[in-house]
Amino acid sequence: MNEKLKPCPFCGGIPVIYNYPSAWCVICKDCRFDGPTDLGWSGAIELWNTRPREEILISTIKSLMGEAITQDAFADDEGRSLLDSAQLILDGGA
Ligand SMILES: [Zn+2]
Repeated sequence: MNEKLKPCPFCGGIPVIYNYPSAWCVICKDCRFDGPTDLGWSGAIELWNTRPREEILISTIKSLMGEAITQDAFADDEGRSLLDSAQLILDGGA
């Protein structure tokens, strides 16, 4: 039961996994958005955490910025690169 759920893709809220009578689903506690249902607990988590558009955006940003994004010149106050900071935000750990 320790699989990490990504935050809600719409409001950034905290998700919870919910067991319907015949399926599992992840639901945002804040905005009530519900993800796709699956017959299994882990399947519902995998569907919730699958974000193809985010992955495409991250890949595009990486290719556009190239090596420059990892240079220290772009580091924030805590020494994280811009890419690290962007990934942290996408992972919900901002
Ligand atoms: Zn939400």
